Amino acid sequence: MPCSVNSGVKPIRIAVAGGNYAGLYAIQELYASLLAKSTKESPSERPPVEITLIDRRDGFVHYIGITRGQTEPLTFGAELWVPYATVPWLQHAQIRVIQATVLKITQNTVELATNGEGNTVEFDYVIITLGESRFAPVGVASSTKAEFIKELAESHGRIQAAQSVVVVGGGAVGIEMAADIKSDFPDKQVTLIHSRALPIPGPFKDEFRRSVVDILQRDIGVDVVLGERVVRQTPESADMRYSDWGAAFGPEVVQSVSHDSKIDLELSSGRHIQADYVIRCVGTDRKHRVLSIKGDVFGSRGIRVRDTMQIDGEYSGGHMFACGDICARDEVKLAGVAMYGGYIAGRNVARLVLGLDSSRLEAAIKYPSKLLLLMGKKQWAFQMDDEIWDRERTRQHVHEDMGLAACVDRLALQRDPEFSDLSID
Ligand SMILES: Cc1cc2nc3c(=O)[nH]c(=O)nc-3n(C[C@H](O)[C@H](O)[C@H](O)COP(=O)(O)OP(=O)(O)OC[C@H]3O[C@@H](n4cnc5c(N)ncnc54)[C@H](O)[C@@H]3O)c2cc1C
Repeated sequence: MPCSVNSGVKPIRIAVAGGNYAGLYAIQELYASLLAKSTKESPSERPPVEITLIDRRDGFVHYIGITRGQTEPLTFGAELWVPYATVPWLQHAQIRVIQATVLKITQNTVELATNGEGNTVEFDYVIITLGESRFAPVGVASSTKAEFIKELAESHGRIQAAQSVVVVGGGAVGIEMAADIKSDFPDKQVTLIHSRALPIPGPFKDEFRRSVVDILQRDIGVDVVLGERVVRQTPESADMRYSDWGAAFGPEVVQSVSHDSKIDLELSSGRHIQADYVIRCVGTDRKHRVLSIKGDVFGSRGIRVRDTMQIDGEYSGGHMFACGDICARDEVKLAGVAMYGGYIAGRNVARLVLGLDSSRLEAAIKYPSKLLLLMGKKQWAFQMDDEIWDRERTRQHVHEDMGLAACVDRLALQRDPEFSDLSID
């Protein structure tokens, strides 16, 4: 349903493409500064706006918990999906939520795969927060909570049925996946294979990397194979053929993996490892392809943006914003970074809508490089900037629910955001 604004003035149209950490934070800030009740003025004194949130899912997914969601699907996994329909302020008359796959974004339109309301959303401002796509089972193909619960149950079934599991890729996600499986299923043989001499790409210390390998091997019981690349997998598993990019970009159906015979992995040294189930955590697939913006706006890590989160391009600098994982900022890609980017983008769009000139926009400061690894429920490791924190100090940052309640709170998924006056702190 299109929103109705009764002032008679043509509303300013703001589209937010992608509704997870970055997109929901951005739209929360738009709500707080353009729609929420203020003690000083009423929202009707502000320019009328129509805010459209577009996502191929019908809710928020707490990715941070997705590895444990597969090993504990009923007690934990099902909580990771929060439907947009349950978020009170998203039901505001000037916000509409469209569940559809974004096919293309131009300078003034978001083009969608067919849905009941037409295929194009026109905008005056856009915030692009489509993230990056991951391979199943870490990538989420589902578009509804019911499908998600089924998807988790299927991957849980595969893990349960396997006596041996190999996780390929020793980034943060692969490490947490291997650790969660071995912690919840101590009798299974769990192996983590990483192509480099030490795991965890990014700006982290070798001492930190080595301590993580120690925890995995000594404390949890994961076999860690380093400096070996998987050159061939026979047979390929169905998981290798789809990612969470969505229906428009690849086959959606996940076939169950047969455990009748072992999967053979040939490594770069010529060594072979057999497993019943192989999970690939080998990085992400960027969504540049959905963007069709004039000018060169792509860096190797994503869309180039200025510190204001405006897209850095000749034709797209003023009214087009991007934040979260889809951006090329020189930062570790984290949910915290995505939410902070959403904060900056949402508030800056609100400033432009309210008539402030672009020289008065807020600039993001560089987010610290940090990594908190949650390896099962009892082991963790944390590097903050150049400092490796000890176990006890890190404990204060470890949430038993893998940060779910904290993110639900920060994204205001169960409460109305308070009015925000847009002063720059
Ligand atoms: C296992 C795991 C553990 C992690 N642990 C941590 C951690 O401990 N701390 C931390 O800070 N970060 C962690 N991260 C990283 C964090 O999840 C990402 O940085 C974060 O999800 C980025 O948020 P985003 O909003 O930019 O993108 P996403 O969360 O990926 O959201 C993108 C949104 O866009 C939608 N979308 C994508 N393509 C389309 C399309 N074509 N059409 C319509 N909609 C589309 C998706 O449905 C989704 O809702 C972890 C990630 C994983 C996978």
